[in-house]
Amino acid sequence: MRVISLIVSCLLLVSCNSPEEVNQRLVQAFDDLVFFVAPDRQGAEVRQWNPYLVRWEGEVRYFVQVEGSPEPGMLEQIDRAMARVGAVAGRKVSRAEKLTETNITFTLNATDRDYRINGAERASCYANIDEIFKPGNQSEDGGKLKKASIYLPGMRPRVMTACLEHEILHVFGFWGHTQRIRSTMSSFVSENEMTKWDEMLLKALYSPNLEPGMKREEALKRAEQELLLILAAS
Ligand SMILES: [Zn+2]
Repeated sequence: MRVISLIVSCLLLVSCNSPEEVNQRLVQAFDDLVFFVAPDRQGAEVRQWNPYLVRWEGEVRYFVQVEGSPEPGMLEQIDRAMARVGAVAGRKVSRAEKLTETNITFTLNATDRDYRINGAERASCYANIDEIFKPGNQSEDGGKLKKASIYLPGMRPRVMTACLEHEILHVFGFWGHTQRIRSTMSSFVSENEMTKWDEMLLKALYSPNLEPGMKREEALKRAEQELLLILAAS
C-alpha cells in the first residue's frame, strides 16, 4: 500500500524528479533545439544539422513588412513577443524604420496565398533557416547571426498566435523541435508562448559562458553547468 501511495504521490508531484534528472532532460532538450537532433514524427533520429552554436550578439533590429491588410493589433503582438524573447535572452531588440537596417525581417501576409517553402510545401508560417548558413549572413568568426526572416499569417489571428513565439525562437537559435519538455517548440502539443522550461533553455543559450561558433560537445557541457545554476535559482 505504501509503495502504491508513494507511486501515486510521485505521479502527482513533479518534485519526485531529482534536480539531476530534470537537468539531464533539459540538456537533451537543449541538444534537440540547438543542434537539431530530435527524433522525427516516426521516431527516427534526425541527423545533426547545425555544425555549431548560433545566436545573436548585440542589439537585434527587426522590420515588419506587411502584405495586404492584417488584423488589427498584430504589429503590437509582434513587438510584445520580440520584447519578451529579447528580455529572456538578454538582448536589446528594437523595431527598425527601414528594411535596410534590419536583422530580422518579418513578413505579415494578409493575402489569400499561402507561403511556399522551396517552391513546393505550403505553410501558414515559417522561419527561413537556410539563410543563416549562407555565406555573408554571419560574421567572419562564425555563429554570430546577422540576418533571418520570419513569415506569418496576417489574416488568421489564432494561427498567428500559435506561430509567433515558436518562429521567433527558431531564429534566436533554436532550430530544432523538442518533445521532451512542455514547450512552444514541441511539434505535437505546442504551447502558444514560451514555457518556463523554454525560458531556462534560452537563458542557457545566451549565457556568457556559451559562445557563438561553439561545437556541440563543448556547448552541451557548458549548457549543463548553466542549467544547474538556472534551476537552482528558479
Ligand atoms: Zn518549427
